[in-house]
Amino acid sequence: MLTDLEIAQSARPRPLTEIGGRLGLTEDDLEPYGRHAAKVELAAVGARRPRGRYVVVTAVTPTPLGEGKTATAVGLTQGLGRLGLEASVALRQPSLGPVFGIKGGAAGAGHSQVIPMETMNLHLTGDFHAVTAAHNLLAAMVDNHLHHGNALGLVPHSITWGRVLDMNDRALRHIVVGLGGRLDGVPRETRFDITAASEVMTLLGLATSLDDLRARLGRIVVGFDGDGRPVTAEALKAAGAMAVLLADAVRPNLVQTLEGQAALVHTRPFGNIATGNSSIVADHVGLGRSDVVVTEAGFGADLGYERFVNVKCRTSGFRPDAAVVVTTVRALKVHSGAHRVVAGRPLPAELLAERPDEVAAGLANLDHHLDIVASTGVPAVVAINAFPGDHPSEHAVIASRAAERGVRCAVSTAVADGGAGAVDLAEAVWEASAEASELRFHYPVDAGVEAKLGALARDVYGAGSVALAPEASRQVARLEELGYGALPVLVAKTHLSTTARPQDRGAPTGWELPIREVRLAAGAGYVYALAGDMQTMPGLGSTPAATRMDLGPDGRVTGLF
Ligand code: ADP
Ligand code: MG
Repeated sequence: MLTDLEIAQSARPRPLTEIGGRLGLTEDDLEPYGRHAAKVELAAVGARRPRGRYVVVTAVTPTPLGEGKTATAVGLTQGLGRLGLEASVALRQPSLGPVFGIKGGAAGAGHSQVIPMETMNLHLTGDFHAVTAAHNLLAAMVDNHLHHGNALGLVPHSITWGRVLDMNDRALRHIVVGLGGRLDGVPRETRFDITAASEVMTLLGLATSLDDLRARLGRIVVGFDGDGRPVTAEALKAAGAMAVLLADAVRPNLVQTLEGQAALVHTRPFGNIATGNSSIVADHVGLGRSDVVVTEAGFGADLGYERFVNVKCRTSGFRPDAAVVVTTVRALKVHSGAHRVVAGRPLPAELLAERPDEVAAGLANLDHHLDIVASTGVPAVVAINAFPGDHPSEHAVIASRAAERGVRCAVSTAVADGGAGAVDLAEAVWEASAEASELRFHYPVDAGVEAKLGALARDVYGAGSVALAPEASRQVARLEELGYGALPVLVAKTHLSTTARPQDRGAPTGWELPIREVRLAAGAGYVYALAGDMQTMPGLGSTPAATRMDLGPDGRVTGLF
């Protein structure tokens, strides 16, 4: 069997002018970066034709290996193309950390990939580097401000703005800066996060224009002064220069699927503590220029889809016409509780045995994610992402549950067969997206922080109650006093279960959601409540994916999955 990389390398990409041309993008709208990637000018954002249909791809609670949302999103786009529709796909740019860590590529799989996959998985057009630079410029200006007299009275211990790097590097989680002598800065403890966790990344994904980007950068809060007032990037006079560094990164990147559809790849906000969706601008380009845009939301519906609705759609004003819930046989077997899964290790081989009873026992998790989609009023379609070891009896269990619920369902073999393997799914999605629907948010944005948390806990996570630690309650009171109470609220929690405990399986109800801390992302425009320990700088495993990669004598990459 060919690897993903071999399949991608044997494909011949079409000229980007042809791909863009199908969306009505002219040469003036595209700035080529090499031969097979281009920036789309912001002038090309917006309607050229009636708005296309908007399809969001979400999933059940994934195993640590992922359940194939990206692969299904790309396959579905190719399948919609086989129906004669002009389809485009909006994806998040892969992060170097996971690429060299455990996950390998994030450009799809098999015959449902975005190409060139090396470009897509590595630097693309440099947006991550620009985000890293903009973030670290602000960090440098914070420390410089302390060094040169601290006119704004920033309290060093209150500084929440660390540094970022696009790498999995656990040794940088806790650092001390300013060591040396009097001329080397003010010593203080700080940290590195992975670039995807930078607030700048999320803000870039939510910015609707250059002016909006600039305003959001200015609102970033780096810490507080002695009276507890926020100190912003604007006050530090850093926001303008940050915008300068992001001038190219704010434009989405155009690449293509293996079957020649436009793929708009842009931004990658972290899925646990941030929004976990690709950019509003990228979706906007596609919506104005295709019959249908397929966009992926990170992790399960409890994370990426919740933020897609309550943050991204609220900000953009766009409304989804259908939501695809990707499920796999292996994920549902894991949710039955019959298997032990350890992050960073291969899944247990017993998952390949024919066990429809285990699939049935894991259906509670699928139901939970379908309930989340139903609570937003959006028509759902279940996509069974077929793996080589699946058995028809196991697919039948999933299909009959979908039928009981009156939800459309299709098996996708798009990884093995490309768009031809997603024609049934594409038909189901196209039908579902024609139904009348009205998006419902989980809370009114001007409700209090605790009320918003309560709504998410009850209606998205299935919790019975919320328990705020005393410190978290004080933080909520302070944020509301400072005027940040009317921002959307996210719960930063594990993606490996529907609860706050990664080891939970299925979809427990009636539990207590513990919130230990509440933080502000004023530039991105939300408040996030920490439920459990969230790692914002991942580490590498004992055998990182990087150990399998090399460069051949002809300059070709090998081992990138
Ligand atoms: P997600 O976007 O949900 O995290 P991906 O689409 O990136 O998931 O897929 C996760 C992993 O599973 C990738 O390594 C991919 O190659 C693999 N994969 C996904 N779908 C299939 C499939 N149908 N058959 C084989 N491998 C698959
Ligand atoms: Mg993905």
